[in-house]
Amino acid sequence: MNQTTPILNGLRLRCGACGQGRLFSAYLKLNESCPHCGRDMRAADTADGPAFFVGFGVLILTAPFLFLIPMSPLPGLLKAGAILLLALVITGLSIWLLPVAKAILLNLQLHHKSGEAEFERKDG
Ligand SMILES: [Zn+2]
Repeated sequence: MNQTTPILNGLRLRCGACGQGRLFSAYLKLNESCPHCGRDMRAADTADGPAFFVGFGVLILTAPFLFLIPMSPLPGLLKAGAILLLALVITGLSIWLLPVAKAILLNLQLHHKSGEAEFERKDG
């Protein structure tokens, strides 16, 4: 067994419990259980959390260029090329980081045994 954290295993797209089994069977398609240790992955649901964090992170990294490129003294064609390159970088970063963010959030949810909020009903 690897003695690593859920976050480090998430960065490697591996199971947070054993650090060996792959979390995904395809791009963003989770395995129902860890192929190595058998940990049940169905208990966790990251919903749109990974997309939120990746969207914000990529936006913070790239937003300054959306202002700097149009204001630069470059000729129009170079500006258009720079904007196109920026669009490719934004798309590539998002596609690359989305499974990583999903793996980290999933491992953290399973590690901390998070679940739906439950309220105890008190009658009388
Ligand atoms: Zn495992």
